[in-house]
Amino acid sequence: HAKARGRNNCQLFRPEMNTRAVQRQFIESGLRRALKQGEFLLYYQPKIDLHSGTMTGAEALIRWQDPQLGLMQPAQFVPIAEESGLIVPIGRWVMREACRQLKAWQDAGLLAVPVSVNISAVEFRHKSFLEGVALILSETGLSPELLELELTESILMQDAEASALVLTALKRMGMQLAIDDFGTGYSSLSYLKRFPIDTLKIDQSFVHDVATDADDATIVSAMIGMGRSLKQRVVAEGVETLEQLAFLRAHQCHDGQGFQFSQPLCAEDFRRLLGSGTRVTTPHSQ
Ligand code: C2E
Ligand code: MG
Ligand code: MG
Ligand code: MG
Repeated sequence: HAKARGRNNCQLFRPEMNTRAVQRQFIESGLRRALKQGEFLLYYQPKIDLHSGTMTGAEALIRWQDPQLGLMQPAQFVPIAEESGLIVPIGRWVMREACRQLKAWQDAGLLAVPVSVNISAVEFRHKSFLEGVALILSETGLSPELLELELTESILMQDAEASALVLTALKRMGMQLAIDDFGTGYSSLSYLKRFPIDTLKIDQSFVHDVATDADDATIVSAMIGMGRSLKQRVVAEGVETLEQLAFLRAHQCHDGQGFQFSQPLCAEDFRRLLGSGTRVTTPHSQ
C-alpha cells in the first residue's frame, strides 16, 4: 500500500511501527542492564526415562526477572537478543551459570544429572565459541560429560561442513550433543548420520497429537526408529498427557520432557528434587 501511494507518504511514520522500534530498543537496553545487574535466572526442566520413571537429565531454560516487567519468558526477549548480538554474552552467562550451579550441587553431594543448554546460531558461529566453552568448563571444574549442548537442525545445516568440525571438536572435549526441535528444520539424513549426535529431541508439535492423529503417530514412530538405529537417545518434548506417554512408551522412546512430569523449576525447587532422589512421579508447580 505504501508503494501505491507514492514516495512521499507518511506510511514510514506509522505510529505502531514507531512503537515497535521503541519497544525493541527498550528491551535491548533492558537486556544490557540485565547482564550487568544479574537479572537473568535459569529454570530447570527434568527429562524422565519413560520406562523407569527416573530423571536422566534436565534442560536449563533462561528467564529474565525485570524489575518493572516481571518474569519474562524467552519468546519475549531471545529473538531480540539474537538480532542484537547480545545472545553471545547472554549465552555465555547461561552456560557458566548452568555449569557453576551443577558443580555446586554435585559438590554438595546431590545426585548429578547432565544439564542441557540451548545454543543459538549466533553463538555457535561465533569465532570464540569453542574457546568460550573450554574456558567455562575449566573455570567451573564441571566434568564435560555433565554438559549437553542443544542445537537445532537449521543451525547445523546452515553450513553443514563447518558444523561437523565444531561438533567433532565439542565431542573431543567430552560434551554431549543434542538436536533440538527435531522435525521442524530441514535435515539432510546423510549429515544426520555423520554428525556426532548423542540425543534426538522430537519437537513438541509432533508429540502434541501423537495419540489422536495417525500421521503424527507415523512420523513420531519413524523418528524414534531412526534415532534408535543411529544409537541416539530419543527424547520427546512437550509430553502433557498420559495418552501421549503411553504411545511413546509403546514405541520405545527413551525419555520424555513436559508438563506431564514437571514444569521448568526454579533452581531452589530443582535442587530439592535432586535431593529427594531421581524419581519424578507427580507434576510439579512452576
Ligand atoms: P526449547 O529448547 O525447545 O525448550 C522447550 C520449551 O518448551 C520451553 O519453553 C519449555 O518450558 C516448554 N515446554 C516444556 N514442556 C512443555 C509442555 O509439556 N508443553 C508445552 N506447551 N511446552 C512445554 P521456554 O522455556 O519458554 O523456552 C522456549 C525456547 O526459548 C526454547 O525452546 C529455546 O529455543 C529458547 N531458549 C530457552 N532458554 C534459552 C537459552 O538459555 N538460550 C537460548 N539461546 N535459547 C533459549
Ligand atoms: Mg531446547
Ligand atoms: Mg525444543
Ligand atoms: Mg524450541
